[in-house]
Order: sequence, then C-alpha cells, then structure tokens
Amino acid sequence: MYDLGLDIGGTTMKLGIFRGGELIRVDRAPTPKDPNQVVNEIARMVAPFDYEAFGIATAGTVNREKKALSDLGGNISGWQGYGLGEALAKRGIRLDVLENDINCALVGEMDNRRDDHVLYVGMGTGIGGAFYSGGELYLGSRGSAMEIGHIVVEKGGVLCACGQRGCAEGYFSARAFHGLMKAAGYERGDDFLASNEASAQAFIDGAADYLIGLENVLNPSAILIGGGMITYAPSIVARLKAAMLRRGNGNVRAPLEPARLGNDGGMVGAMLLAKKERRGRENHL
Ligand SMILES: [Zn+2]
Repeated sequence: MYDLGLDIGGTTMKLGIFRGGELIRVDRAPTPKDPNQVVNEIARMVAPFDYEAFGIATAGTVNREKKALSDLGGNISGWQGYGLGEALAKRGIRLDVLENDINCALVGEMDNRRDDHVLYVGMGTGIGGAFYSGGELYLGSRGSAMEIGHIVVEKGGVLCACGQRGCAEGYFSARAFHGLMKAAGYERGDDFLASNEASAQAFIDGAADYLIGLENVLNPSAILIGGGMITYAPSIVARLKAAMLRRGNGNVRAPLEPARLGNDGGMVGAMLLAKKERRGRENHL
C-alpha cells in the first residue's frame, strides 16, 4: 500500500509515491492548461497505485472543506473555484486533502523539526508564505493568511497580477532576481550576488528589509527560505541574514535557514496532511 502526494505547479505536476513514509519514486508530467485536462492527467498518474492516503498541493488558496480552489485560483486559467475533489471523485479517485503548496512545503519541513512559530518564505515565480504556530498551520479567518508576496513595498510600483501596485513579489521573487541578473549580464546567481552591481546590492538590502518586517510582526523561531531562489543562488541565505542583522533593530535575530526539502516539500507535506486526515477520520469511526 502506498501514500501519494501530488504537487501541481505552474509548469510541472510532480507525483511523489511514498511507502512507510519514504519517498520511493517521483513521476512528472507537464501541467495541462485546462482544469479538466489536469484531472485526466492526475487520473492517469495515480492509476497504477493502490493507495491509502492521497493529498494534493496547489498554487492559489483553497476551500479545504470542499477540496476546491477558492476564487483567487492559481496559475491555471479557469482554475478559480474549480471543484478538484469532486471532479476526481467522479473519476473514482478519492482525494483526502487539498492544500496550498507553500503550506504543504512547511508541513513537510516541520516533520523533522521540534521548534514552533516557523515562517516559510517561498521565493519562486512569486513569493508565497506559510506560518506554523501553536502546533499547526496559521490559516487566518478565510484560510488565505500569509499571502506575504502581496505586501506593498513600493508605492505606485509595478502592477501585480493581484491588482495592487508595488507588491513584494514583483521585486524579491526568484523571477525578479533572474531579471536583474540577466540585465547585468550574469549567468550564475551567486556570481551576481558577489558582484559590485548596484542592482544586486539593492536586491539584498530590499529583501532584507522586507524580511525584517516579517520577523518584527511574527517573532518566528526560524525563517525557512525555499523556492527556486535557493537553487539559483544558494549564497542568498547567508547574505540576507548578514544584511538583516546589519539593518534591523535590536529584536531582529534573522534566524534564516534554507528549506531542507527544496522543491520536494509540497509533495511531502501533501502526503503528510492526507495521512493525518485519514487518521483523524478513522478515530471518529
Ligand atoms: Zn500582488
């Protein structure tokens, strides 16, 4: 018997196949453009496996009860409000949990930690956040808490996909970093960060100030940096930490660490949440 964790990304879907908690295999497929095609692809991917628990991590905010995407949706057009759990059920596929991908990534990290009040900052195409506090994910009143990519950091700045101007993800995401690096003529992220380029220094200082704000609000025991950024430029964690300590007030400790699971966190967390959900249900029988 297997447990399954699927991460639906903007470009790739990754299915993690677990046995006894161990990841034994990862199957990949391009993410189709249409939600119905996504369901067909999921059906094809999970068909070979006799599974106990099945969880899905997705971009965007979710309606946990309905196992549906919320109106904010994700990267797939027509994904807003899509009833993924119901569509899968019609195909005879039982889904235990649908959860936001950054929340899943943090749950994956927490499996190996003993501390509490842990902040996850996913620096990828955008910036996603998750916060683990009091032994559980902090979800907020409508379940869409920790949308830290949409904190305005520049008044009247670049227009964000969310409709606001000057959102943090327009400036401090891996995508924004990549644009600055290419414009300065660098191929490797760490080379760009080590350079004397004004745009590299401005990126570090700006991202450090942004993280200082988050630390001042949340007082986390650890800030885990995940997403494509730590693959592009592994030195970013040490550089941000130094800049935070240099620029922050006396309360700032900058407890930055790279996320341990890298890009596998979403799959691992989705599987763990699905197992927890099934255990909870069995206890109620
Ligand atoms: Zn925004």
